[in-house]
Amino acid sequence: MTTIYADNAATTQTSRAAIDAMLPYLETIYGNPSSLHSVGQQAAEALLSARDRIAKCLNASPREIYFTSGGSEADNQAILSAARLGERKGKKHIISTAFEHHAMLHTLQKLEKEGFTVELLPVGPIGTVTAQQVKRAIREDTCLVSVMYANNEIGSILPISEIGAVCREAGVLFHTDAVQAAGHLPIDVKAQDIDLLTLSAHKFHGPKGTGVLYARQGVFLTNLIEGGAQERGKRAGTENIPAIMGMAAALEDACAHLDENAKRVSALRDRLIDGLSKIPHSALNGDPVNRLPGNVSFCFEGVEGESLLLLLDAKGICASSGSACTSGSLDPSHVLLAIGRLHDVARSSLRLSLCEWNTDEEIDRILDAVPEVVEYLRGMSPLWKDLVSGKKPFTL
Ligand SMILES: *Cc1c(COP(=O)(O)O)cnc(C)c1O
Repeated sequence: MTTIYADNAATTQTSRAAIDAMLPYLETIYGNPSSLHSVGQQAAEALLSARDRIAKCLNASPREIYFTSGGSEADNQAILSAARLGERKGKKHIISTAFEHHAMLHTLQKLEKEGFTVELLPVGPIGTVTAQQVKRAIREDTCLVSVMYANNEIGSILPISEIGAVCREAGVLFHTDAVQAAGHLPIDVKAQDIDLLTLSAHKFHGPKGTGVLYARQGVFLTNLIEGGAQERGKRAGTENIPAIMGMAAALEDACAHLDENAKRVSALRDRLIDGLSKIPHSALNGDPVNRLPGNVSFCFEGVEGESLLLLLDAKGICASSGSACTSGSLDPSHVLLAIGRLHDVARSSLRLSLCEWNTDEEIDRILDAVPEVVEYLRGMSPLWKDLVSGKKPFTL
């Protein structure tokens, strides 16, 4: 039995192209780009070229690209920088959404303790916010709007261009956590009026532990790490050249095949959604229309999500109950609560996240396995008995 990997929102397999792009910088061109000798200078040239190529994928300029240790770091640096800039002007109001990644939410909580007012916009039953909602929330003292490009658990894609336009008009900095979008959806930081943007290599077949913070020219960044003058003094530490080269190759590859991959992956996604919708008392989570090509997220009433995952794993299917960062804890996902799922229902979630390497045969196997496992688990669930006997009302 071959393993089916359907957890690409948690992380992806590193592509051959990314690995091939990394190897020379581990084996021969291992110099420190700050060194003056030839091996160092070859690494420095590679770094320049990676910055250039990544900037092109985003329609940014190379000087606006800062390499970080990943999405979490870039999220932290983006909002802490905007907060420090705001603070200096006496602006301490921040707008974000209720279903951001924890790298965002926990940093915002930290700022709240420092006296910032954080307003998390409600995301409604399909999990999105409108530009109108953002516009209404903007105040005189708003220093930052941060809205994710696409949600990692339920796959909703948010109207980033419209929100960008509203923020630009109001003169408020706009950050988007585009970790789930980069390499999967078109990004144009200029056309979309984006001031700060986060991406992470391991979500598009690049290596783990590297990412990018794009900061529009003129947006002053605060350092998270002090030390050397790398990244124009904004992010100290010897650059992770092999990973950066892998990231550049993976992003170029993803951007070159964006439409083709999206078409292929959404067809697989739609087959899964159609099939799983036939399971009684189930519901799709997230926006049914504006949806990440690879995201399938369901709740199955009367089922315990962790058990579902373990039984699917035994059948060789790697899935997730929501976000990798909350699994292992018994708290239901904040994203599913934010779209109005009740606690029991939120605990019955299954996320299957696909990539262009998944096949039709794999979808067939998933469509055989999930209904069988759901039925089996319901057969032994006291909660399901209560629902069927009418002791508790069905909500799905
Ligand atoms: C994965 C993810 C992150 C964190 O990125 P890391 O590189 O793993 O730190 C942040 N935001 C979203 C939406 C993600 O999916």
